[in-house]
Amino acid sequence: MIEPFDDTYFMKKALQEAEAAFEQGEIPVGAVITIDNRVIARGHNLTETLTDVTAHAEMQAITAASNFLGGKYLNKCTLYVTLEPCQMCAGALYWSQISKIVYGARDEARGCINLNTKLHPKTEISGGVLAEEASALMKRFFVEKRNLN
Ligand SMILES: [Zn+2]
Repeated sequence: MIEPFDDTYFMKKALQEAEAAFEQGEIPVGAVITIDNRVIARGHNLTETLTDVTAHAEMQAITAASNFLGGKYLNKCTLYVTLEPCQMCAGALYWSQISKIVYGARDEARGCINLNTKLHPKTEISGGVLAEEASALMKRFFVEKRNLN
């Protein structure tokens, strides 16, 4: 069976990135950026590894996508991210003029939706794709972390 290139297909790729973050002891958030149904950039949270609060999955993926395209605007691209972007990432995505954002789990406390962070007027946003999987991974991370301390 050939898997269709739909939101679930690409969110699975973002989840693989989140799992890579998990393995490295990072809060498991992953992202991929696509253009014409092709993954051009991947990223996962690296805030501990890089001791850098700005090293969110989305930021890594935005930089990688711009490098790949040789241009700073991502207006033909879609971002798949396992967790609703925070204010900082939503701000960066604003500057990138990305066409579409698809997130997995909601982040009620720190996500851009409840905080009313402005996205670019041309950016579409939708969510809830593989949300259960994304939040299960987060929960597992924090349970294991608690058990280690
Ligand atoms: Zn962020």
